[in-house]
Amino acid sequence: MPDTFDLVILGGGPGGYACALKAAQLGLKPAVVEKRPTLGGTCLNIGCIPSKALLDSSEKFVEIGKLAKHGVIVDKPKLDLARMMARKNQVVDELTKGIAFLFKKNKVALFNGSGKLAAANKIVVSSVDGKSNEIAGKAVVLATGSEPVTLPGIAMDGRYVISSTEALEFDEVPKKLIVVGGGYIGLEMGSVWARLGSEVTVLEFLPRILPLSDGEMAALAHKSLVKQGLKFHLDTRVASISPQDGQAVVKGQTKGAAATFSADKVLMSVGRRPVSANLGLEALGVAVDAKSGKIKVDPNFQTNVAGIYAIGDLIDGPMLAHKAQTDGEVLAEILAGRKAMVNYDAVPSVVYIWPELASVGKTEEQLKDEQREYKVGRFSFAHLGRSKCLDETEGSVKVLSDAKSDRLLGVHIFGPRASDMIAEAVAVMEFSGSAEDVARTVHGHPTLSEAFGEAARQAAYGAALHA
Ligand code: FAD
Ligand code: NAD
Repeated sequence: MPDTFDLVILGGGPGGYACALKAAQLGLKPAVVEKRPTLGGTCLNIGCIPSKALLDSSEKFVEIGKLAKHGVIVDKPKLDLARMMARKNQVVDELTKGIAFLFKKNKVALFNGSGKLAAANKIVVSSVDGKSNEIAGKAVVLATGSEPVTLPGIAMDGRYVISSTEALEFDEVPKKLIVVGGGYIGLEMGSVWARLGSEVTVLEFLPRILPLSDGEMAALAHKSLVKQGLKFHLDTRVASISPQDGQAVVKGQTKGAAATFSADKVLMSVGRRPVSANLGLEALGVAVDAKSGKIKVDPNFQTNVAGIYAIGDLIDGPMLAHKAQTDGEVLAEILAGRKAMVNYDAVPSVVYIWPELASVGKTEEQLKDEQREYKVGRFSFAHLGRSKCLDETEGSVKVLSDAKSDRLLGVHIFGPRASDMIAEAVAVMEFSGSAEDVARTVHGHPTLSEAFGEAARQAAYGAALHA
């Protein structure tokens, strides 16, 4: 008889581990199958956490150079890349071990190995030592996440053409780095290496970077990154990449004209695809979207096969850690017999460049497409006392609200620590609040959050106080 659990979860990333912890807290008996030696999935091991550790370290490296203005005189900073990497690895180690500790504390069973569905309620786990065993679950939750994609005909060889995983592990700063794709990974990893001294060139297929962000805010980010030394070629199609004399040579077209670029390394950051192959889905008839590879689910995360569920990067919606985690928590509640749902209209997103770009809700482009009538409020950090004290005056807050009801429809912040500031906008949107609700909320002084209050005043009353 195989071990039997209330739910067996394939994948120990933010979706899978959150589902397991919440299920255990609700009195269910969960098991997680994870093929990596550590828990935390892409996010903790090779995604959110190591990239933010390097972004934070490289930000400090750049900040030191700006201290003279504050009257703090320091020698030119020197880079110890090995130590920066060791700190990043330590952060990852502590956090992945933290999840293992939480599994023990909450009595979540962990099976180390690669899992595959043998039946709707049976998983075969193959471990690295070649052994395999079968476990059963009243419910099976697929949470196997996503992996990087490349372009047709271009292989990621790990040396010249790399993914984000290798870009988190360089043992020296590449003199020249080409980034294909001006989205999250390209701009974040491009920022890290540009700050540490690389000459970074971004090749983007579309006529703009960050295609899903509000256009006005993405343009501000673009301008800022150019000032920081990153080069951009938009409307650029990459046709081939080949090694030549120790360099990667990229051939393609920019705005229709033939173009050649070369660099020590080329980071492919043109998106990720769900890990839905080789899970035994075809044999059981689990419906997968042919184009995107995403598993189709109903509002309760159930696939077309009863008892098989899917969450996180594997299903529709943004491929973000907090979205995967929320899916996992909510599914655990549903499996425990509660009513629960995720509000996908209020999922924040953050691009951790500097200044940061954080958003929630609709972009202005989306509102125009939907032919909605809306009001816009803007407030620049340049007018804010705290920004001046910090010497962080770049960027602005943009508030979009319904023209009639004043309800908040979207908030976009390009500014210092926008990642933390966006939380207030998410909470107001979650409660269906209005721009006036934000304008009438007392914001501490002097804080960066006052910029949100001011942009909301402009949307609600047509004027901010301090602009
Ligand atoms: P994953 O985290 O991918 O976890 C899936 C797990 O399943 C993995 O551990 C995998 O080993 C395991 N698995 C796969 N197949 C099997 C199998 N057959 N058997 C057993 N185990 C299996 N998101 C943010 O919100 N903020 C960020 O700052 C951010 N930064 C990122 C930076 C980078 C460089 C990258 C690559 C991604 C980043 N993301 C970020 C995205 C985030 O990492 C993902 O959205 C999130 O990890 C998805 O969670 P998940 O649980 O769905 O899948
Ligand atoms: P992305 O979707 O963010 O960006 C891909 C970019 O590549 C887009 O600008 C797209 O237009 C461009 N592109 C597509 N095809 C191209 C081509 N042939 N040539 C040139 N450019 C091309 O993808 P990503 O940066 O690889 O990141 C993958 C996902 O991981 C993100 O969508 C996000 O969900 C997640 N992620 C999130 C964060 C965060 O939350 N801060 C950080 C990193 C990754």
